[in-house]
Amino acid sequence: MSAGRVSLVGAGPGDPALITVAGRLALREADVIVHDRLIPQALLAEAREGAMLIDVGKRPADGDPNAAQAEIHALLIERARRGERVVRLKGGDPFVFGRGGEEADALRDAGVAFDVIPGVSSATAAPAFVGVPVTDRRYASSFTVVTGREAENDAPPLNWEAIAQTGGTIVVLMGRRALPEISRRLIAAGLPTDTPAAAVERASTAQQRSVFAALEGLPAAAERAGLRAPTTLLIGATVELGERLAWLEQRPLHGRRVLVTRPAHQAEDLAALLRAQGAEPVVMPAIELIDADRAGIEAAIARLCEAEYDDVVFTSVNGVERFARQLRARGRDVRCFGGVRLAAIGPATAGALERIGLIADVVPDSYTSAALLETLRAESLRGRRILLPRSAQGAPGLSDGLREVGARVDDLALYEVRAAPADRAVVQRLRDGEIDTATFTAPSTVRGLIGQVGAEALRGVTIISIGPATSAAAASAGLAVHAEAAVHTMQGLVEAIAETGHRQDD
Ligand code: SAH
Repeated sequence: MSAGRVSLVGAGPGDPALITVAGRLALREADVIVHDRLIPQALLAEAREGAMLIDVGKRPADGDPNAAQAEIHALLIERARRGERVVRLKGGDPFVFGRGGEEADALRDAGVAFDVIPGVSSATAAPAFVGVPVTDRRYASSFTVVTGREAENDAPPLNWEAIAQTGGTIVVLMGRRALPEISRRLIAAGLPTDTPAAAVERASTAQQRSVFAALEGLPAAAERAGLRAPTTLLIGATVELGERLAWLEQRPLHGRRVLVTRPAHQAEDLAALLRAQGAEPVVMPAIELIDADRAGIEAAIARLCEAEYDDVVFTSVNGVERFARQLRARGRDVRCFGGVRLAAIGPATAGALERIGLIADVVPDSYTSAALLETLRAESLRGRRILLPRSAQGAPGLSDGLREVGARVDDLALYEVRAAPADRAVVQRLRDGEIDTATFTAPSTVRGLIGQVGAEALRGVTIISIGPATSAAAASAGLAVHAEAAVHTMQGLVEAIAETGHRQDD
């Protein structure tokens, strides 16, 4: 058995992307993760299968924090002595008001090997996320980080006079409750009552809120806004810059929680677009895809490779990717497309073709099957042999419309779409009204979600659809569509959300 060790790892201020590369690696390798309450929960998904997760953040309100701390020391030591790789995951940086020093000391005394992987501390992150540089040549040459709870922790007392006199930016952690007292003390210590100040709640997350006010008025302003912990206070001339440089809360989808219903392998691209606009994506695939009609696929591929088709029409990225996979599984490759004309319903599907080395000949201006049909029908299709590889549940309009003008269409059921299992936690969040918006990228996602949660749970949720077919599916399921993408792409979908302008305030 290898010798156990403990890594004290900083989890960053809230956004799970703000852990360091080293911190993430340690999480992935850990046998045991001992974590606080105030860490981004999404980070725990980095744990390898079978790793043990221990939450030591849920202390009873009246419990003795020192006793709880001693228990944490004992736990870390015991686990490491069993030969396990232990990660002690803490919010922000482990050595900034995190009792990381006491834990390192206990480990050292016990002869347990440890290392420290620093994290992005809220002391610098909270100001950054409201556009306040903690130092700035024009305003401040220093910043001072202090606790707002000196008395409670029997830590060495703060010298508020000295802090007020530095002339730099003052950052107060754990200062929400004592804010009135802190404001009074700093003014008594000589800071002008109109010193720029701010309070930042849940910095870096989709729920970030902030209040800017003069030092004297900040307690009342924070109270009015209902700010709660975790909140960081900022005081000093640099705070004024936040009025111009604030950026995170200004993003178009800041504060929105948006349900992504796409299949798991496609959810991340939409989730990333949502995050870039400031929303918190909540992924619960409503559908999953499985291979369909083996014999049909076999026959279609044989015909394609014998040059028996004039056109192949793709209506989704999945269609392209799964068809290519079927080709390869049969020892064939894209040479089978030889001289056929290739049509794609939109730029994403055309992009999927490009990734396998093919350029679409036809892409309609608008990305719907009606537009695709119209574009294809612009020239005579009489007698043309067309392969249409797509979902078994594809609407008949496209194949019927091609046949109507004399084409011979093989409507190939390439894959089946079926409802995906629901994620209990996400269903609960929907029922609790925590998710303000749901996105639908295909009619099947509408039916899938209704199957998972029922229409009732979607009451009050803003419904966004990618295009007319999806909107029609929503309408027939009894859902009012609040916005439909003008351009029927993921980007268009995200823009449509911003138009609905609904914000969830909690
Ligand atoms: N080790 C942590 C601090 C722990 S003390 C770090 O380096 O960030 C807990 C205090 O940190 C909270 O009371 C609050 O003042 C601050 N804090 C933590 N996360 C925060 C966040 N997302 N936004 C604002 N303040 C935060």
